[in-house]
This record gives sequence, C-alpha cells and structure tokens, in this order.
Amino acid sequence: MKSSIFCWILYALLLFPIISFSQSENNNQPIAIVIHGGAGNINPQNIGLEEQKRIKNVLKFALDTGYRQLKNGATSLDVVEMIVKILEGAPEFNAGKGAVFNSEGKHELDASIMDGSSLNAGAVSGVMHIKNPISAARIVMEHSRHVLLNGEGAENFVEKFDLETVDNEYFDTDKRKKQFDQIKVNEGEGSLPKNYQKFGTVGCVVLDQYGNIAAGTSTGGLTNKQYGRIGDSPIIGAGTYANNKTCGISSTGVGEYFMRGVVAYDISALMEYKNYTLEKAAKAVVMEKLKEMGGDGGIIGLDKGGNISMVFNTEGMIRGFVGKDGNTEVKLFAD
Ligand code: ASP
Repeated sequence: MKSSIFCWILYALLLFPIISFSQSENNNQPIAIVIHGGAGNINPQNIGLEEQKRIKNVLKFALDTGYRQLKNGATSLDVVEMIVKILEGAPEFNAGKGAVFNSEGKHELDASIMDGSSLNAGAVSGVMHIKNPISAARIVMEHSRHVLLNGEGAENFVEKFDLETVDNEYFDTDKRKKQFDQIKVNEGEGSLPKNYQKFGTVGCVVLDQYGNIAAGTSTGGLTNKQYGRIGDSPIIGAGTYANNKTCGISSTGVGEYFMRGVVAYDISALMEYKNYTLEKAAKAVVMEKLKEMGGDGGIIGLDKGGNISMVFNTEGMIRGFVGKDGNTEVKLFAD
C-alpha cells in the first residue's frame, strides 16, 4: 500500500514539469484568425451603407465566435469549418445561401479545407444540394482516400454523414438573380463578366494554440459560369493551402488565373525555399506575378508566428482578422 502511494507521488512529480511545460508552451503560442468575403470592385459606390453594415456585422460575429472557441482550446480545423459555415449561411456572400447562378440558372458549389499539420486536404466541387459544402470537404478529407470529389459522387459519398441537404433553390437570392439577368443581357449566354466584379467567395485561415494552421475556402464560383465549370476554390494549392512549416492561404478572384498561377502554394513555396516572409511572398505573387498574368483577386493568410497578410490587386477585398495580440479589425475597401 505504502509503496503504491509512493509510486503515485513519484509519478505525479515526474509528470508535473511535463504538464506545466506543455501548458506554458500553449500560453506562448500565438493564436490568430483571418477571413475574407471576396475581392473585386468593392467600393463605397457599389456597396451601400446598409450592406456595408450587414457585411461587417457578420464578419465580426464570425471572428468573435471563432476566437472564443480558439481560446477555449478548439483546433484550427474546427474553427475554420465553423467560421466558413457561418459565412455560408449569410446571404451577403457568394457561398452557400447567396451563391451566384451558373449559365443554367442553378448553383454549383465548390469548397476545400486543408490541415497544415498533416498536409491532409479535402474538397468538393459542383455540389448542388449540400447546405454547407465546407463540411462536405472536411468529410472527404477525413473519411475518404481522395482529396477532391465532384458533383453527384461527392453528394452520394457524404450522404451517410448526416449533412443537411437542401433543394438547389435554397441558395437563390434576389440580388444574385439580378446580377445573373444583367450579365446575360450585357454579355450574352455563358459569358463571364469582362471586368471582375464583387462576388463574395469566403475563406478562413486559423492558427491554434497547438501551433497548427488550417485553411478553408467556399464559393458559388463566377456568375453565369459554364455549367460544369470548376474554379480554384476546391483546388488545393490554388484556392486553399496550409502547411505548419510556412503558412495558410485562402484565395479569392478569377479562379482560372489562380489555378494557372498555383497561387496559394506559390506563396508557401517562396517562404519555404526562398525564406520570404509571408507578406513579401504574398505581394510577389498577387501584386506582381498574378497581376502580370491579368488575374484579379487577392489572398488572406497567416504564418506560424501568427503574422497576418491580406493582399489584393482589386479595388477592395472584404476581410477581417483577430491578430495575435487579440485585436479585431474588419475592412471592405482599400486602405
Ligand atoms: N475564385 C472563385 C472562382 O473562381 C471566385 C471568387 O473568389 O470570387 O470560382
């Protein structure tokens, strides 16, 4: 009896420094969140005061909720999924409810998520009935041997996981219908807008107290896109990327350019192989390489130290963050 008590005391003494060390390590580990709600011709003429207020409120709510959970020990993956779900539920954005119409007058949704600790990733494209595509992307990551599942195959695969499904009309909003009708009149069936307009794809990157980075992106794509078109948002390395060694990135803009420029991975690669800071890498890719290609858009990202970048070559980008010092900021237009 005495010897077993002695063993327990010894065990506790041995364990104490390990526990307190890992706790203090967590306390020193910065946490941060950065989100976007799309880039484009976002200026005070195009977005009225009421709409600005609504957008800012949703962003703040998403950041506050995410930060609270992060402080309570939630993982970066959980917080990314939760925040993107909030944004998918808000009709202000082109993701989930409020997604744009394709050339057939329907909604085809793309989403992806990546875990920077394992480089594991999951994505869905062209799904039409899943209320929260970001959750479907996570299911693909965690429960399939694949990275990207498309359309009906994706919907069938996630069926057994009890995700909420909806009629395609659930995603309709008057605002997107008007944009769709206008684009058809102005530019003809099946055409993409000549000038990249504001679309409202959503994305989120999180650094948690365990030092893990995760990133996710969700979108309805481009208004009047060809039926079957898949953009950059579900393409790992283009629309989304996360690697604990470097950074997490979520992109928004004309997907065709982001795919050709492999934008999200390119930023990470400049950090990994050329020792660039996140800000320097993001600017080199978005403000130089992408711009020279003619690609409009931007990225949000954070690195393992909790440093945040929000770089865009368009008029504006809907964006917000909670920094490593706990400060929250939400912005729509250029500084
Ligand atoms: N990147 C998205 C796509 O091309 C659109 C956007 O970000 O607004 O599908």
